[in-house]
Amino acid sequence: MVEKHRHCLNCGISIPPDQLFCSEKCRLEYIKRRKRMMRLNYMFLGIAILIIIYYVISVSLK
Ligand SMILES: [Zn+2]
Repeated sequence: MVEKHRHCLNCGISIPPDQLFCSEKCRLEYIKRRKRMMRLNYMFLGIAILIIIYYVISVSLK
């Protein structure tokens, strides 16, 4: 039998199945990290859109 448990979403240690994080500190750390990741993703998305717009304009000018 495999013991039912989850892993803390922040540090990965085993925790009871009804919890997402091992501690309040890990929960806050995870949220902070995710916010930073989201901002980074938006930045990359913005750059990608700029490149596409630039490409479309340069193609349409030919
Ligand atoms: Zn943790």
